[in-house]
Amino acid sequence: MPNARRAHVVAVAQYSNALKACQPSLLCQVYGTSKSLIHGLFPATCLLCLDPGQMPALDLCRACEDDLPVNSGACPQCAMPRPDPGIACGNCASRQQAFDAAFVPYRYEFPLVELIHRLKYGRQVAIARILGTVLAHRLCERGRPAVDAIVPVPLHAAREARRGYNQASEIARFAGEIVGIPVLDRVALRLRATEEQAALPASVRRVNVSGAFEALAGCVPAAVAIVDDVMTTGATADALTRALKHAGCRRVEAWAVARAVGEPAQP
Ligand SMILES: [Zn+2]
Ligand SMILES: [Zn+2]
Repeated sequence: MPNARRAHVVAVAQYSNALKACQPSLLCQVYGTSKSLIHGLFPATCLLCLDPGQMPALDLCRACEDDLPVNSGACPQCAMPRPDPGIACGNCASRQQAFDAAFVPYRYEFPLVELIHRLKYGRQVAIARILGTVLAHRLCERGRPAVDAIVPVPLHAAREARRGYNQASEIARFAGEIVGIPVLDRVALRLRATEEQAALPASVRRVNVSGAFEALAGCVPAAVAIVDDVMTTGATADALTRALKHAGCRRVEAWAVARAVGEPAQP
């Protein structure tokens, strides 16, 4: 993103709290007003630069969507960037992830860090429409995904109650609507209130989420995609995949909006 444009987006983000009450989906939730009326009253406005958004109701302009940091050359197994596109990285070759493929189209960098932070901690649930839509746009570019359903990564009930929503479910809802795949929001549970993965060193993240999920046997289709906002080490996706496969699922893809890059994958 060019420097002048980046400075403008940063300035807009600093005043973003003033925009919260004007977000169409929040108004829909609060007042139960029809979406068409709300969208007529409040035309889509880019939350990053305040230019007009994309029709009919995406609060992100085309220029800002095009400027999002693309996770190019990613390992098809774990979505870590690597020099040889399309070939599994050394980490995946030596240590089997439970999930069968990963698709994470963006890197967890500016401005996605800010957007995801506002969604998770700023109660700006309307940002889920942006993230779900851009994830769906990138999925559609690859052709229709070969999965039967989308399963959002569940939050523990106590955390979801505190936050008021599960950001992964909200992202999945918009992505599923665009790609035409049903979202199964309640077939998996998070049994333990695990520590936030982002707060932990990579070495303990796998232990933190191991056995944390349960999927309802008989309710899970043969092929699903799990959806999260950010993939960091892949430990959360791995633990949820094991629960889904234990419940009878045969193939699991791990999708997320943004990949925390960290150390580059081994060639
Ligand atoms: Zn914009
Ligand atoms: Zn890999």
